[in-house]
Amino acid sequence: MKFTDDSSPHLPSDMKNKVVLIGILFSFGFVLNPQPRIVTEKFFPDVQANFKSPAFHKKHGFTKYHEMMEYLNKLKSEHSDIMQITFIGKSQKGKLIPMVILKSETPKIPHPVKVWLQGGLHGDEPASTEGLLNVLESIVLNPVLLQRLEIAFVPMANIDGYEKQIRYAANGLDLNRDQTKLMAQESVYLKQVFSDYHAEVAVDFHEFRPYRRDFAHYNRAGITSRFDVMFLYSGNLNVPEKLRYYTNDTFVGNARKALDTHGLNYHDYVTTDDYYGDIHFTQGSVQSRSSATSYALTNCVSSLIEVRGVGLGRTSFTRRVFCTFQVAMSYLNSAYDRVDELRDVLLLSRKDKSEIVLKSTRKVSEEKLKVIDLDTYEETEIAVTLRDGFQSKAQLKRRRPVAYAFDTTIKQNKILVQKLRVLGASLGPTDKEMKCTAEYFIPTSVVKHGALFEQIHRTDIETKTETKQITLPKGTMILYMDQPKSNLVAEVLEPEAPNSFISYSLLEAEINKPLSWFRIIEF
Ligand SMILES: [Zn+2]
Repeated sequence: MKFTDDSSPHLPSDMKNKVVLIGILFSFGFVLNPQPRIVTEKFFPDVQANFKSPAFHKKHGFTKYHEMMEYLNKLKSEHSDIMQITFIGKSQKGKLIPMVILKSETPKIPHPVKVWLQGGLHGDEPASTEGLLNVLESIVLNPVLLQRLEIAFVPMANIDGYEKQIRYAANGLDLNRDQTKLMAQESVYLKQVFSDYHAEVAVDFHEFRPYRRDFAHYNRAGITSRFDVMFLYSGNLNVPEKLRYYTNDTFVGNARKALDTHGLNYHDYVTTDDYYGDIHFTQGSVQSRSSATSYALTNCVSSLIEVRGVGLGRTSFTRRVFCTFQVAMSYLNSAYDRVDELRDVLLLSRKDKSEIVLKSTRKVSEEKLKVIDLDTYEETEIAVTLRDGFQSKAQLKRRRPVAYAFDTTIKQNKILVQKLRVLGASLGPTDKEMKCTAEYFIPTSVVKHGALFEQIHRTDIETKTETKQITLPKGTMILYMDQPKSNLVAEVLEPEAPNSFISYSLLEAEINKPLSWFRIIEF
């Protein structure tokens, strides 16, 4: 089977009609499985597992919202001592978004480790939701982990997308590109609850598309991914180095071992990008608009887990849910086994006062990648140019301020302050005049992108800073940087950072006109 666009002119006309028909079916959201049976049988045979969530009681489709709610309510009625269901807000179509908290009334340690498990942020990645429902059930049946853990589950984060099995929220936004600009109402609810929960470990479950259009350019008949699971953890340089390495070595490391014991294949997350007309593979994540980095910047162990599945319908579904289940259980066991070590790392990371990195570049190298050849149906390797986010280098840095200050008589700043609170920042007005050394951002270049990204025209900005001794009037809104989520704050307030409020054009900047918030270097 070929996936190239240029293959169709060589096809006989009845085949061409079929290709057109397949295209039409795809555009109406019909699920056509692109995976030949031989690939499934040879590389991804289903596994034996005794999953009981709603999708496993039927042959077609996945767990519907109302089926999930019935399932959760039944579990809760049987285990109300350890299970609570709350609703964190409404989807755009008005469905209540459930969050389940599992916690013991008599934990064995005074402050159980808080873990956040999320699925279904992209609505067409059903193994994430299904996997979490089964993790939840398995823990309520055997709650030993709750002796040291408290676990929050958001199994279906994007209900409207899930009900239609599409990636996006009802207004067309990708909720995993919306973690700093917060334009979808689901993003605001999810982020507020995440911020208030103060997770120490956060895992966001997804599935990836194993048949990508540009994979058709490799070998004679194209390739497909060899991996059951890909791990996406942050390479963002504002995530303290100790936390980045601990996440990889310990939590991802243990999950790799767990997959090894079941003969499942994994890799660090890689995807393809068009790079000036060439296909490059990017590895890892550095962008705070996505969950893995956004959560890590709030000072927790964070990963996004990608399971091989988008576009496969029910093919290998038990295997995909099994992968989700195994990785989730591994993260929970790592947290359970290493409470003190985890907290030491988080405490040290919180004390890290490194300079703020505004721009970084990925390490580029030539590598080999394991794939499945779609002509021979053999495992093989291809040569790729890899741009690795986990090995990023700082390009532009700025010293860390002691605080940021806002004049809230400016209307736009009120909206910013609101968003910052949703992101978990605490800030408030001064109760007296204060002398300080302030640094103002003066834009030296402002370029608006012509093309839309997630429904906005982004801004590229460069600034210089201007230092002044000033007296802050009483009532000035101050955000002190000595707080747990300060690295996320820097990512949105430093204008050059790629996912900042200015980069996402939440505020318009003008050349030579100081921005409406500023840095405080010293009081
Ligand atoms: Zn996804």
